[in-house]
Amino acid sequence: MRSFKRYSIQEFKRYLRGVQVRRRIDHIQIHHTWRPRKSDYQGERTIQGMYHYHTQTRGWQDIAQHFTVSPDGYIWDGRSLELNPAGIAGHNQGGLMFEMIGNFDEGEERLEGDQLHAVAHAVAACQERFGLNDDRIVFHREYSAKTCPGTSISKRWFIEQVRRVRGGGQLSSRQTRVKPASAQPSSGGEEVRSSTSSWNGQILRRGDRGELVRDLQRMLAEQGYQPGPIDGIYGPQTEAAVRRAQRELNIAVDGIAGPQTYRALTAASWRGEILRRGDWGRKVRDLQRMLAERGYRPGPIDGIYGPQTEAAVRRAQQDLNIAVDGIAGPQTYRALTAR
Ligand SMILES: [Zn+2]
Repeated sequence: MRSFKRYSIQEFKRYLRGVQVRRRIDHIQIHHTWRPRKSDYQGERTIQGMYHYHTQTRGWQDIAQHFTVSPDGYIWDGRSLELNPAGIAGHNQGGLMFEMIGNFDEGEERLEGDQLHAVAHAVAACQERFGLNDDRIVFHREYSAKTCPGTSISKRWFIEQVRRVRGGGQLSSRQTRVKPASAQPSSGGEEVRSSTSSWNGQILRRGDRGELVRDLQRMLAEQGYQPGPIDGIYGPQTEAAVRRAQRELNIAVDGIAGPQTYRALTAASWRGEILRRGDWGRKVRDLQRMLAERGYRPGPIDGIYGPQTEAAVRRAQQDLNIAVDGIAGPQTYRALTAR
């Protein structure tokens, strides 16, 4: 029988900092087990039971989830981080999957105490490690008729718990240490900040630090250029990633990120490839931007092809007199970009 590792919150954070992941991770899935219930939990045997069920009965290549949060506040490891999870049918690409042991449907068990504390910390740590905003946290039920992770858990409340943890610790402590500085590009070793805190082409180079660097790193990471940890420090890894991006995007390779690099990184990448509900990423963001610019209201420009984006695609298709199927492909692209 396969064995699993159990981490305390601190151990989990240490593990996460050290782990290398080649696969691109772009969202976090939250699930409850439903069965086993919290009251069924028996330590590692419970995890092994799920492993057995997933691999033997369901025939999957590994346990479905990357992490399992136990009722007593520990985090168990699981599926290899290099594999997409088996969490949400058709929507597992780029996912990092959490299972919380318990049945959190109304009137059953409650997510509280040590378990809530552990899952909030673990999710916050993963957000930081992989550069994922709150809008990259996904509940199973958003893509399924299931109630998972349980009707007693509202997404707003859950995200609020994760935010609270970040406010008291990890994510924002680093931000509060950023000393106020001007938005001027610096020649090195200084904090670089802007009032809007978003990088849009200000010159950044090795030695710079701060929120703008973090934005740049996030953008590089999202596009697969591997800047290392999203830590707001423009070190050798970030510089190497900028060089990789510059080379690939056919602009001058100097390792300094400025307006040209920004323009190249933000240029449209969607050229009519088929996109449909459940898809994620930069191409979806391009599609959303295009829809928004033309008044088709796709909702937030978040790179997630959800119901709002789908509805906007339908509106556009209807308006442009092409087949209305809610799937964006070459025909939709051509119609959107025609005069
Ligand atoms: Zn689920």
